[in-house]
Amino acid sequence: MSEWSKRTKAVHHGVRRSQYGEVSEAIFLTQGFVYDTAEDAEARFLQSGDDEFIYARYGNPTVRMFEDRMAALEGAEDGFATASGMAAVNGALMSMLKAGDHVVSSRALFGSCLYILEDVLQRFGVEVSFVDGTDLAQWKAAIRPDTKAVFFESISNPALEVIDVRGVCDLAHAVGATVICDNVFATPVWSDALAQGVDVVVYSTTKHIDGQGRALGGIILGTQEFIRKTVEPYLKHTGAAMSPFTAWMMLKGLETLDMRVRAQTDGALALAQALEGHEKLARVIYPGLPSHPQHNLALSQMNGQGGTMLAIDCGSKEASYKVLNALDIFTISNNLGDAKSIVTPPATTTHQRLPDDQKAALGITPGLIRISVGLEDPADLIADMRAALAGV
Ligand SMILES: *Cc1c(COP(=O)(O)O)cnc(C)c1O
Repeated sequence: MSEWSKRTKAVHHGVRRSQYGEVSEAIFLTQGFVYDTAEDAEARFLQSGDDEFIYARYGNPTVRMFEDRMAALEGAEDGFATASGMAAVNGALMSMLKAGDHVVSSRALFGSCLYILEDVLQRFGVEVSFVDGTDLAQWKAAIRPDTKAVFFESISNPALEVIDVRGVCDLAHAVGATVICDNVFATPVWSDALAQGVDVVVYSTTKHIDGQGRALGGIILGTQEFIRKTVEPYLKHTGAAMSPFTAWMMLKGLETLDMRVRAQTDGALALAQALEGHEKLARVIYPGLPSHPQHNLALSQMNGQGGTMLAIDCGSKEASYKVLNALDIFTISNNLGDAKSIVTPPATTTHQRLPDDQKAALGITPGLIRISVGLEDPADLIADMRAALAGV
């Protein structure tokens, strides 16, 4: 099975059939599991972490199928699925850190990730140093002999800064720090973050993995030691488990993940190429365009691809709102990786709470629109965007 390509694993890996031999993965909508005898109950509790299920907060067969399939796809030994992407980010960090620890993180993060690193961790006595994630010299200066963990989004939300994954991992590992990577924008299809040195990969499966806007979900992937000894005790006792029904939806999402991400990436490249240089735009940001500051790095660590996300800068909030309100196919929302193309104005929505200077430092300009390209015909998307821009 380890010989299979990611695309094949995403369809088949980790299936556990019941005695009925069902084709589609079964949904075990059960909170618990019965034991034949008191001795069996005792034995089951002694072996938590393996296949013997005890309680759905600890693990469930449908959820375990999803965890196993994601681990195989990512090349990880093990995984723990969570109720949302943020539960995964929080679980990965909180389970391994304690007061007095030092963390280095890139500054360009999704709003809620920033909240965990800036507010929650520091409130519990964890010291966090923030760096410009695209500048290896800043990582080098910030990582100390006592640094416990390093955190970044491999491609940042929303301004699409690309982190030198190998470079940062080498610096972190030189002091024995654990590298945790939020890999949402890169997707398991294009990224090989673990092979590039990352220790722990975190996904919001709400995004490309469900890919159809139906459910929140998350997963933490890493070594069996990290998942079972560090993550599982924290998550199973604090209650961030993924629901079995959600895990089933995510399994169905994985079956089509590869073809969706490929089609969405083709669409994003076509849209970025069509919009670059447009007279109404200050900037088009797409890692797959040679104009992107980390274009070569992005291609080298993403199997030659730029991903499904881009951003445009309309120059002002007013102009961006005109474009947003004139679009017919793109919907204004804050999900991404969806089959439906989605546009988001980060400065006034996902990153609204940040002070203006911090927005500026993160490249979140007032006219920025984050674009998640869906599965529509790219020609229709280009026409829709051109018509909206013409009205500015
Ligand atoms: C959406 C997102 C999250 C949070 O995921 P939820 O499933 O919404 O909790 C974390 N990191 C990144 C980069 C995201 O895009």
